[in-house]
Amino acid sequence: MTTASSRWNEYHTPSALADALMILSRHGERARIIAGGTDLILDMEGGHTSGVDVLVDVTRIVGMDEIRETDAGIVIGANVTHAQIEKSPLLRDHAACLVESCGVVGGPQVRNVATIGGNVAHALPAADGTIGLLALDAEVEVCSLAAGAVERRWQPLLSIFAGPGRNNLGPARLVGGFRFAPRATGQASAFDRIMRPQGVALPILGLAAWLQLTEDKQRIVKARIAIGPAGPIPFRATDAEAVLTAAPGFDDAVLAATIAAAQAQAQLRTSKHRASKEYRYEMVGVLLGRVLRAALERAQNL
Ligand SMILES: Cc1cc2nc3c(=O)[nH]c(=O)nc-3n(C[C@H](O)[C@H](O)[C@H](O)COP(=O)(O)OP(=O)(O)OC[C@H]3O[C@@H](n4cnc5c(N)ncnc54)[C@H](O)[C@@H]3O)c2cc1C
Repeated sequence: MTTASSRWNEYHTPSALADALMILSRHGERARIIAGGTDLILDMEGGHTSGVDVLVDVTRIVGMDEIRETDAGIVIGANVTHAQIEKSPLLRDHAACLVESCGVVGGPQVRNVATIGGNVAHALPAADGTIGLLALDAEVEVCSLAAGAVERRWQPLLSIFAGPGRNNLGPARLVGGFRFAPRATGQASAFDRIMRPQGVALPILGLAAWLQLTEDKQRIVKARIAIGPAGPIPFRATDAEAVLTAAPGFDDAVLAATIAAAQAQAQLRTSKHRASKEYRYEMVGVLLGRVLRAALERAQNL
């Protein structure tokens, strides 16, 4: 179905992935994908999408709004909303950091329509859902057309980011979903963020961590820490992760060394509406302490 409005000339609502990709490739730079519209409509009203007059609404594409456990991992369709993630028993068990990060996006009205696909594709380095997915080491499914047939490719999440607010999908590709490994015994994750009290959009700083403990639960053998905003694209604090996994255990000295490594590697900036670089630097320490302790306690009891 196609409709028009004063903001655009064509609004398509395909129910098949192949049809959506075909419309996108036909219109090239004139077309934009719309899901919940909570970022895109503001971008359009702010004049950041000049030349765009065709919208392709992907929310009716069959199967893209499902959360499934498969042989290849837990799969979340790009059209799954933050509210669906928040309420999913499967994700509460396997992806606590994602449930916690999506659970603080906007307010209930926003979470009911805003999607995880839009959160990632909008490509802001502080997007909460993205930070949760990054700590889970999620892969992204990129869909395109090859000789008229849909081609689906799984690739590392970070591979689609090109800079603040920019992805490298190009005009004729879309995100189909995300997948990550299910949680095993001794693994757990957590998320927290620092937000301005009156703020409803992006956080001053968000941080997610995923940990795996040894069988005796005394040491951290694998760690992933995602922080945003801490660079032009969502950031993995790999130096801090290395400190954690090299340590014989976890105590205040190890935490201090982990914090120092994250603070040294992160590219923190002052932003006019949110916080100074110095404040963010301090908050890296506060959030790492909170999130690591929460993930550790969960991992010891799971
Ligand atoms: C009041 C308010 C509060 C907010 N608070 C937060 C917050 O606390 N934390 C936070 O992280 N964000 C927040 N946001 C931002 C926004 O809600 C999220 O980023 C949301 O997840 C975007 O999803 P959407 O479905 O609305 O995306 P849309 O606006 O529909 O799309 C966003 C972008 O992604 C592209 N896109 C959408 N789906 C796909 C796809 N499947 N494949 C490829 N490209 C696609 C679109 O073309 C567009 O460029 C807030 C927004 C508002 C208005």
